[in-house]
Amino acid sequence: MSEAPQPAHPSWIEVDLGQFRRNVGLIRSFIGPTRFCLPVKANAYGHGLRAMGLAAEAAGLDYLGVAHLQEGVQLREAGVTLPILVLGAIHADQIPDFIRYDLEVSVSSRFKADLVASACERLGRVCRVHLEVDTGMQRTGVRPGTAVELFAHLRDLPCVEVVGIYSHLATADLPGDPFALAQIAAFEALLRDPVFAGVPLLRHLCNSGGTAHFPQAHYDMVRPSIMVFGYPPEQAPGALQGLAPCFSLKSKVSYFKVVEAGQGISYGHTYVTSRRTRIVTVPVGYGDGYRRALSNRAEVLIRGRRFPIVGTICMDQLMVDVGDAEVRVGDEVVLIGRQGAEEIPLVEIARLCGTIPYEILCQFNGRIPRVYVG
Ligand SMILES: *Cc1c(COP(=O)(O)O)cnc(C)c1O
Repeated sequence: MSEAPQPAHPSWIEVDLGQFRRNVGLIRSFIGPTRFCLPVKANAYGHGLRAMGLAAEAAGLDYLGVAHLQEGVQLREAGVTLPILVLGAIHADQIPDFIRYDLEVSVSSRFKADLVASACERLGRVCRVHLEVDTGMQRTGVRPGTAVELFAHLRDLPCVEVVGIYSHLATADLPGDPFALAQIAAFEALLRDPVFAGVPLLRHLCNSGGTAHFPQAHYDMVRPSIMVFGYPPEQAPGALQGLAPCFSLKSKVSYFKVVEAGQGISYGHTYVTSRRTRIVTVPVGYGDGYRRALSNRAEVLIRGRRFPIVGTICMDQLMVDVGDAEVRVGDEVVLIGRQGAEEIPLVEIARLCGTIPYEILCQFNGRIPRVYVG
C-alpha cells in the first residue's frame, strides 16, 4: 500500500508527478523534434493548474494551452515562464490583460484582430497571436476560405506578431478516421497558399487522438492533454502503451458500524442490508465532485479488495458494505486508482456515470486538496 502523505483533509487527490514525467518522456520520444504544448485548462484536467503548469515547465515542455484569461494569469502568477496560448475565442474586454500577462491569443476574425492591434498599440507592447482555422469542428476559427485574407491583414498590423496557425480535429480518436483525414487535407491545402510561403509559423493541429493516430499531421507542434495525464486513446500505437494515469482519488475510513439484516442505508434507504454486515463511512461525497449517480453502483478499494458503495452518496460522505472483512477506521480507501494489485480505473467510473474520463476529472472541485508525490 502506498505511503501516502497525511494531509489535513481526510480525502485527497494524489497526483504522481513521477508518472507525469514518464508520460511526458514517452510522448516526447514519440513526437521527436515536434514542439510539445500541454493544454492545462479546467484546472489541468483536475490535477491542479499551478502545480501542473510548473511541473510541465520543469519537464521541458514547450508551450501551455489554456481556455480562459484567468487560467493564464494564475500560471503567470505561479511563476510559469513558458509561452501560453489561449485556445478558442477571446473576449474583447480582456484583451489588455492578455497582453499584460504575455499570453498568446487565438484570432479568428478581423474584428478581434483589430481590437488586439489597437490594444497593443495603446500599451506599447507586442502581442503574439495564432490564427485559428476551422477545418470542420464548427466551433471557433475562421473558415479556410477567409484565412488567407485574415492572415494578410494580421501580418500588416503593427505590433501584432503572427506566430502560429492552427486547427482542431473533431474525430481523431480512432486511427484512420476519414473525417480527421479530410481535416488534415483541408489544413494542408490552406498552408500551400503562397501567402504562407517562407513565413515561419508554428503549424499545429493534433490533440491526443491526433497525436497518437495521425503522426503525419504533427507539423511543428502537437497539443495532447488527456494522454499526457495517462489516458491514451483506444488503439494507440505500441510506443504509447506505457502511458499510465497519475491521478488517484483517496480517502480514509472515518467510521465503522455493524448493521443488522433488513436495515436501510443512507437517504431514501435505497439499499437494504440482506444480512448482518459491516458498514463503513468514507468522507467523500458529491460536494467534492464524486458523483451521486455512482450510488449503489461504484466500488472502492480497501485493504487491496473491492467493496460496493451502498445507499445514496451524500454531499460529504458515502457508505461502503465491507461484509465481514477486517476493516478499521483510518484504513486507506481508493475511489479512483490503484491499491495493491487492484485498480478502480477512471474509465470504469466514467462509464458508470454515462460520460467520458475528461468530465469526471474536471468536476473535482477545490474542496479536495491535491497532494503531489514523486
Ligand atoms: C483541450 C484541447 C486540446 C487537448 O485535447 P485532448 O483531447 O485532451 O488531448 C487540444 N487542442 C485544443 C484546441 C483543445 O481545446
